[in-house]
Amino acid sequence: MFRSSGDSKDGNEPPDLIGAARLRAEQFSGVLRQTRAMMLANVCNALVLVVDFWGTRQFISALYWATAVFCVSGYIYDRHRRRRRGPRSISQSHAARRATLNALALGLCWAALPFFFFQEASPGSRLLIACLSAGMLYGGALALASIPSAAVAFVAPVAFACFVTLTRGRDGHYLLIAAVLGVYTWVLLRHVFISAEQLRTRVMTQIVTEHTASMRMRKLQASGLHAMGGMVTGLAHELNQPLTASACYLLTAQRLLEMAPELRPASVSETLDSAAAQIMRAAGIVRQLREFIMRGEPEKGFANLHDLIREASEVTSANISEANVKLSLQLSANVDRVLVDSVQIKQVLVNLISNAIEAMNASVQHELTISTSLMHDRAIRIDVVDTGVGFSEGVKENLFEPFATSKTDGMGLGLSISRSIVEAHDGKMWAESNPGGGAVFSFVLPLINAEYEA
Ligand code: ADP
Repeated sequence: MFRSSGDSKDGNEPPDLIGAARLRAEQFSGVLRQTRAMMLANVCNALVLVVDFWGTRQFISALYWATAVFCVSGYIYDRHRRRRRGPRSISQSHAARRATLNALALGLCWAALPFFFFQEASPGSRLLIACLSAGMLYGGALALASIPSAAVAFVAPVAFACFVTLTRGRDGHYLLIAAVLGVYTWVLLRHVFISAEQLRTRVMTQIVTEHTASMRMRKLQASGLHAMGGMVTGLAHELNQPLTASACYLLTAQRLLEMAPELRPASVSETLDSAAAQIMRAAGIVRQLREFIMRGEPEKGFANLHDLIREASEVTSANISEANVKLSLQLSANVDRVLVDSVQIKQVLVNLISNAIEAMNASVQHELTISTSLMHDRAIRIDVVDTGVGFSEGVKENLFEPFATSKTDGMGLGLSISRSIVEAHDGKMWAESNPGGGAVFSFVLPLINAEYEA
């Protein structure tokens, strides 16, 4: 019977206006779904009364009354039908006003029933009038519950007319029924306001949830695109170098081949070797990147972190002794049981140790310390401290970005891979300058409970 329209789809509207529009739309949809059934109920009930008054003095009046009900119901249903087919043109506040007016028109029709017909009706017809009025009160309040103003516009006149009619004769019996009717009306209206409030809360909660989800999505998309953009730029830069170099070597080799062998300033085969090395380097970059992207979820198992540190030191022991580095393990955490992908965590440790060794190439002191400590009994912290050259200007901010490297032959992927491994284990990784000169790379991993393992 009532039509919502003018739904706000304008993304520029402030959120509270959008919320209000959405709430109205929900309110109307509840009422709209019932329009047909409600109008049919109006017409049928009016017909029942006409049939009941057949052959009585009140028949003609009943016919006029029923005609009024048919007209109002027909008008409301017709508008409902047309708007469903046609374009939505009126604003929601207009639609709310119209819904309330429609409800009032119908409410006045049904209010006329007890008011004009009850006094003169036979006992049987009085019972019918009471039943029809109570039924319409209940049905109207239920059907219009989502729009409180419309529900009140329908219920109030009907209840008021019943109440006035029953109290008119000052008969104790009817007075009692009038009192019960008052309570009935109060219960109905209370239900209307409670369900309208529940609807409001539900719609608002939904709006907040959707808003939060869409913000999170936008943030994810923005950071994903940003990360991808950075990676593509870095990859292009990284590949450009070896590919340009290999092209130069190949051109040089071609020129050399055009010369007489005795006049060649360089060996053709060495030049071709250099070209091949650059191409292999480009292939290596692509391979590492693919491993980085394709790396799946860690395959976790229980392990002792101190064992993994010892194993990583062993793997790098040749480099350590070659670079004349003094390695000291200070594994002082008294608990080191972790749930990790041992291969990946060892890869992190090897990366950090290799970087530290390289950073100490140009420094006087060659001391590498790996220590562990507990953090709030729930996590274990690992520090890899070196006495290398430390971070040069501008390097520290981008350390963990893919392709950020200060080395001529570096790829700049080691630290970003390491950090993503640690984060995939619910840990954290960061870097600081060593106050005594050099760098400190730290990461934290969650410890597991002994009961959990059991
Ligand atoms: P790569 O070693 O290929 O350059 P990484 O991601 O492992 O890639 O390291 C990125 C950059 O971080 C290095 O080029 C270097 O400038 C800096 N870095 C890493 N470890 C250290 C360290 N222990 N001391 C000083 N700088 C470091």
